[in-house]
Amino acid sequence: AAKGDGRGVHRFYSQEMLAGAKHRQQLEDDLRAAIGAGDFHLCYQPVVSTADAQIVGYEALVRWTHAKRGLVSPAEFIPVAEECGLIEALGEWVMRTACTEAARWPANVRVAVNVSPVQFANPNLPNIIASALAHSGLAAARLELEITEGVFLNESSATDQMFKALKGLGVRLALDDFGTGYSSLGYLRSAPFDKIKIDQSFVRGIAQPDSRNAAIIKAIVTLADTLGMETTAEGVEIQDEIELVRDLGCSHIQGFVYGRPTRAEVVEGSLSKGEVIARPVGFRVSRAP
Ligand code: C2E
Ligand code: MG
Ligand code: MG
Ligand code: MG
Repeated sequence: AAKGDGRGVHRFYSQEMLAGAKHRQQLEDDLRAAIGAGDFHLCYQPVVSTADAQIVGYEALVRWTHAKRGLVSPAEFIPVAEECGLIEALGEWVMRTACTEAARWPANVRVAVNVSPVQFANPNLPNIIASALAHSGLAAARLELEITEGVFLNESSATDQMFKALKGLGVRLALDDFGTGYSSLGYLRSAPFDKIKIDQSFVRGIAQPDSRNAAIIKAIVTLADTLGMETTAEGVEIQDEIELVRDLGCSHIQGFVYGRPTRAEVVEGSLSKGEVIARPVGFRVSRAP
């Protein structure tokens, strides 16, 4: 019956795969065209100090406005760009644009740029970054690279050398989405991270009384403190979570509670007005400003 019906099964899967492959090919073609056409822009989300609510920097997040589909999520197109080699060109554009836009901000405000494991595996990456810094005039210490655990999948002497070369540029390094990937603690021993970004899945639900995530965050913070690394809690959405992650010892917060990723012009405008203290969205200040 159905189980023995090899042809039927085959036909079913081929149709499904065809549809998937077609969609995928279309996405790849559109992405290639979009890189040529410059249909990307960066949005920036504030990173806030738990000690004093000061905005210490912004994370650059790439946005693609597709002519027909509208805004496409990077969660959808970054993996495609990585698979078909387009991440090199896109990543270089992101690096140059983020450095150029951040160079207009006050000198104590940093910018964080996501670096794909594919870019990390390219020995030319330090040159690309050095060039972006030189052209923009951004001080290296104001640039933070966000790297995921994916770079350790094929750990080799090249991985160590890349870390040395990047640190040699004077940029900061952050370990992004910590706890979700290939989670071995061994690499924290040798890799020179300045910061661990605790993945938002651990922040979910910490306001609930029986949250096991709170215990996990506390353990990560203890580890990071011991290793001399800062910690950013990602995906903080509600006001109660601000106090909770601060009490758990996180040094920084990033999340919708302090603002969604926003266009460069808007960020530049607020920074030029001296707005460097973050307020929870919807938070009512009892005293007049
Ligand atoms: P990520 O680097 O972990 O960036 C944080 C993501 O979490 C962003 O999604 C941000 O909008 C979202 N987020 C921030 N606060 C909250 C919150 O409170 N709640 C929720 N639910 N989400 C929050 P986005 O912009 O869609 O980016 C998704 C991922 O795509 C990024 O995760 C990063 O891995 C990748 N990505 C984005 N831009 C770039 C880029 O320029 N280069 C590379 N290689 N990857 C990028
Ligand atoms: Mg990131
Ligand atoms: Mg992250
Ligand atoms: Mg993420």
